[in-house]
Amino acid sequence: MNTQILAGFRRLRDRMLCGDLPHCERAGSPGRSRGHRCICCDKTIQAGDLQYDVRLSNERIVPAHQHCYLAWREESLLLKDVAVTGGLR
Ligand SMILES: [Zn+2]
Repeated sequence: MNTQILAGFRRLRDRMLCGDLPHCERAGSPGRSRGHRCICCDKTIQAGDLQYDVRLSNERIVPAHQHCYLAWREESLLLKDVAVTGGLR
């Protein structure tokens, strides 16, 4: 894995920890972009490209690039594990 991808993972985690980015608690559904902005990297997902729609805990649906979604989902599950393990005695 190259350093750029690792930096991306770390940025996502930092943003989730400071509350800037919600956790990706449910699996997203893939579809075609209509030119919306990615919640993870804030860049436009080109119309026609693959995007993932993720339903947040507040029922809002947000779009993400496929690679952003995969990293976001991975980091969310990791953070959840840490929270669960940290809660045990
Ligand atoms: Zn993105």
